[in-house]
Amino acid sequence: MRILICNDDGIHAPGIAALHGAVKQFGELHVIAPDAERSAAGHAITLADPIKSMPIEKNGEFFGYGIGGTPADCIKLAVCAVMKDTPPDLVLSGINLGSNTGISVIYSGTVSAATEAVILGIPGVAFSLCTYTNPEWEMAGRIVKELTQKLIENPMPPNVLLNINMPNLPYEQLKGIKVTRMGRSRFIEKFHKRLDPQGRTYYWLDGALEVQDDGADVDIHAVRDGYVSITPIHLDLTSYGHLKTFQSLEKTF
Ligand code: MN
Repeated sequence: MRILICNDDGIHAPGIAALHGAVKQFGELHVIAPDAERSAAGHAITLADPIKSMPIEKNGEFFGYGIGGTPADCIKLAVCAVMKDTPPDLVLSGINLGSNTGISVIYSGTVSAATEAVILGIPGVAFSLCTYTNPEWEMAGRIVKELTQKLIENPMPPNVLLNINMPNLPYEQLKGIKVTRMGRSRFIEKFHKRLDPQGRTYYWLDGALEVQDDGADVDIHAVRDGYVSITPIHLDLTSYGHLKTFQSLEKTF
C-alpha cells in the first residue's frame, strides 16, 4: 500500500506530522506538500510559473518534498511525475487545522488535494480538526488511524472523496461518527481596513461561517454536537433539479 500525504497548511505544519504518524504502519508513505501554508487555495493550479521541489528533512531523516505550489499541484505532480511509475493507492490530506464544513469545502485546499486524487482515479480523503487552538492531536491521530484502516479493508468506490471533520475533543469525549451532508452556509465577510507604514491602504479578510441549514444530518451540526463528520463528496456540480428550468434556452440550429 503506497499512501501519498499532502495538506494545505504546508509540509512543516504539525497536522501533516500527526497524519504521517497515524498511518505509517499501513504502508509506504510519500509526502508531497506545499512548502508553505496554502490554506483557502481551493482547487487552484500553477500554470504561469515553474513549480519548485525541495527535499525536506525532519529529525535528521528525509520526510518528503516541499513544493512551491498549491495542494492540487502537489497531487498532480506526485501522481503524474514524481510517482508516475508507482502511483499511490490512497491519498490522505490533512490533518488541517480549522474546520472544512459547509461552504468551506469550496475554498479548502485540504479538500482539493483529495478532490485532485479522485479526478486522477485514486481514492482521496481529507481530514480536518475543527479548531485553531489547543489541538487534540492524539484524538485526531486515533480517528485517522481507525478510519484509514477501515478504508483500506473496504476500498472506496470511484468518483467520490471523503471529507472528514473532527471536533476538538479528547477521544473519550467524542459522541461518535456520523455520515453527513455538506451544510448550506456562507461566510459573513469582514474586511479589516488598515494603513501600512507608508500610509497606503490595505485590507485583511476575516469571516465567520453563517449556517443556513437546520438539518440534523449536516456536517456543521454533527461536529458541534461532538461527532466526527464524514461527508461523501462527488465532483459532478450539475444542478440536476434545474435541468428542466433552463430548457427554454435550448435551440437547434
Ligand atoms: Mn489549512
